[in-house]
Amino acid sequence: MSTQTKDNVTAFSTRPKGARVARKIDREAFGFAYSLQTPVWVYDIDGRCILFANASACRLWQASTEAELCSRDLGKDMSTSVAERLKQYQNDFIASDATFNEMWTLYPDNVPTSVMVNYSGYPLQNGQMAMLCEATGYADDQPENLRSAEALLHTDVMITLFSLDGKPLYMNPAARKAAPAGVTLGSMFADPTDHELLLYELQKNGVHRMITRVSTPAGLCWYDVSAKHCLDAATGKTALLTTYIDVSELKDARDRARYLASRDQLTGCYNRSFLQQRMSELTLMSGQCALLYFDVDRFKQINDRFGHEMGDLVLKMLVERARGAIRKKDLIARLGGDEFVILFEDTPSAEEFSTQISRLFNQLTQPFETAAAKLNVTVSMGMSFFHPGGNAFDDILREADIALYASKQAGRNRLTYFCEELGNAAKARDQLEIELKRAVEQQQFTLHYQPRVDLKSGKVVAAEALVRWNHPDRGLVMPNEFIPSCEESGLIEQVGQQVLTMGCETAFDWARQGLGLQLSINISPRQFNDAKLMETLAAYAGAPDFPKGQIELEITENVLIGDLEAIAIKLEAITKMGYQIAIDDFGMGYSNLSYISRFPLNCIKIDRSFVQQLPKSGPIVRLILTMARQIGASTVAEGVETKEQLDWFVGQDCTQVQGYFFSKPKPHDAFLSVARQINSEPQPV
Ligand code: C2E
Ligand code: CA
Ligand code: CA
Repeated sequence: MSTQTKDNVTAFSTRPKGARVARKIDREAFGFAYSLQTPVWVYDIDGRCILFANASACRLWQASTEAELCSRDLGKDMSTSVAERLKQYQNDFIASDATFNEMWTLYPDNVPTSVMVNYSGYPLQNGQMAMLCEATGYADDQPENLRSAEALLHTDVMITLFSLDGKPLYMNPAARKAAPAGVTLGSMFADPTDHELLLYELQKNGVHRMITRVSTPAGLCWYDVSAKHCLDAATGKTALLTTYIDVSELKDARDRARYLASRDQLTGCYNRSFLQQRMSELTLMSGQCALLYFDVDRFKQINDRFGHEMGDLVLKMLVERARGAIRKKDLIARLGGDEFVILFEDTPSAEEFSTQISRLFNQLTQPFETAAAKLNVTVSMGMSFFHPGGNAFDDILREADIALYASKQAGRNRLTYFCEELGNAAKARDQLEIELKRAVEQQQFTLHYQPRVDLKSGKVVAAEALVRWNHPDRGLVMPNEFIPSCEESGLIEQVGQQVLTMGCETAFDWARQGLGLQLSINISPRQFNDAKLMETLAAYAGAPDFPKGQIELEITENVLIGDLEAIAIKLEAITKMGYQIAIDDFGMGYSNLSYISRFPLNCIKIDRSFVQQLPKSGPIVRLILTMARQIGASTVAEGVETKEQLDWFVGQDCTQVQGYFFSKPKPHDAFLSVARQINSEPQPV
């Protein structure tokens, strides 16, 4: 054990082995301190040991000698938070000639003793910054004071007392750790307007709380800052006490949640609920706004033909294009599927606006070229103008939707502006739907029958069942007036079911009477996909007196689009049960001659429009007749009204004719008498 020397701590041989310390301190400079009553010592922050201590300090530390005290390894039991705090002090000493006061608790003889210690920087000879410590007096040992002082020291909440000109008077360790050197109240704020706002609110109310962005050594953070005016206990002057916590993670999570809640996941544009909220906030605005509703024409076909990924890509690209064609402040939202809405707040002059919309329309309908395919996409649009504060969101959206519907009805790929007439038409449609629901419940539908005449024999060999609505006020309503509405609303499944039942009953009846008449029943596309259809067909086919081959189902070409395999399987099943299949309105749809041969078809019905255009349409009709022969299907010419039309077919290889020339569709008994009359006529046609 070496003795204490006055000039060099390296003389103490009890220091841990290998930690050779160079001459760090000029001990002679401390000559005066030996006689001081107050405890004074120098702490080596990097070396974690005491380099100098006067007698009073040795007593405080309960060391037998200065050498013994200086040989202690004070880093051994030091917690990381204390180590960090000391490091922070060191940085502060280097940055400025700061001094700190800290209540400091020692445990001599296990009795807590609190002293106020004043810390200041002390540069060592090797350039490192040490800490000169002076115990300025024993603190009031009230447990309350001790605990509050400790709490202040160890809390993660950052606390700073600023003078009114923004300089820090006191910072607790947490605040000091997070603050850059030379921080002031003003320099904390990343956004100077937040600083101004805080000062303004403090001026007004004396307190303020805000969430703001703050520059810290670790980068920009979000702080929840509470500030209030108070008196500085040391000077009695008004000061500003601020407490703040880092809420960056919370804020980021909340912002992200808010972002997600307002956005459509696929396209990144806004969603319906955000649009709705935005519309409700518009009420304070004056001026005219507009809502544009649009969707992709036949989007389902894009999905069916090119796959859902392509469909998604088209939607994303549409949003991109729309964004490029509208103003920054115009809001685009996706309502779902392929439906979008653009909200134009405060529309420009009529002329400018119409140019803008044309540009938008033009952009959206440019062909899409991807590596896989080139797609021609068109859109239908509906526009509604409104003044904020007037109609509710749903009403405005509905008006735009009505206008969009009108665009679809008029052939798609266009823009329609909402107007009163459109509104009235929509009301009438709604009314019709209500009445149709009642009609389904009360079974107000009935069938009329139109004869189909065999061209060779001139006899009625079949009939088509055509539905009529026996409306309680309007009398007999024709299918063109209500079938489209049934298709749209889905009611067609129930109406079709009633028609099918009535038709089958009639066919069973005719077979029982031995009339030898085939009956064809119309099946709508939607009904064809309804599971109930197969059930009903199977039930009738299972009956012992089922008139096999005497019931024909008329489907349209657009039923044959989509999953061809599944459609073929279904048609095979129907044929196997003993039903015939006819293609109605042939030539109007998309079917081409090559793929129609995949399906088990018994009959092709040539659309009325070809018959009407004879003889000009002659080549097409002949082509259809040839094709039908090739696939082994019979043919029916529809809508034959005149002797000339009939004669044209007599010379062709056509199986049957149907049309007003023979008879209009008639109620059951009237039809039967017409059929009887035709069949009793002596000569074939
Ligand atoms: P469709 O299946 O093509 O039926 C033939 C339509 O042409 C019938 O009109 C018939 O009255 C009409 N027609 C027949 N011969 C002539 C003619 O010589 N000249 C003219 N101008 N027209 C003629 P209807 O009964 O008004 O039916 C119209 C459409 O309504 C039908 O066209 C069919 O698409 C649909 N429809 C009728 N009944 C039903 C049904 O029970 N279910 C379904 N899903 N649709 C039906
Ligand atoms: Ca038909
Ligand atoms: Ca037809």
